[in-house]
Amino acid sequence: MKCIFCDIVAGKMPARTVYEDDQVVAFHDINPQAPTHVLIVPRAHIPRLQDAAEEQATLIGRLLLAANRVAERLGLDRSGYRVVINNGPDALQTVYHLHLHLLGGRRMSWPPG
Ligand code: 5GP
Ligand code: ZN
Repeated sequence: MKCIFCDIVAGKMPARTVYEDDQVVAFHDINPQAPTHVLIVPRAHIPRLQDAAEEQATLIGRLLLAANRVAERLGLDRSGYRVVINNGPDALQTVYHLHLHLLGGRRMSWPPG
């Protein structure tokens, strides 16, 4: 089954990578919704957050900590940033490989749309 983010993780598809480690890859979103919009994905293919297993608790934590590393690298640690996970149709998930959105560089609104 074809998966865009698996292709990016495997280096088969280009992306502007900003961070990577043995379990996580982060790259700029192709259609940014803020001055900084980075996607943080596990190397492993997990379709949705709700598919994450108990044994993957550490990996899920690593994704969040990677968001902090990316924010530091891109100079967002003082101004702040938002981390979003869209899960399923009502949240408008479009790519079914788990990813965190890291958004920053402008003041966000709340509640989200
Ligand atoms: P979702 O709606 O599933 O939460 O977010 C998917 C995100 O992936 C969207 O923000 C979309 O712009 C981004 N995206 C889709 N295809 C690509 C791609 O090929 N490369 C990159 N860098 N981002 C992509
Ligand atoms: Zn995948």
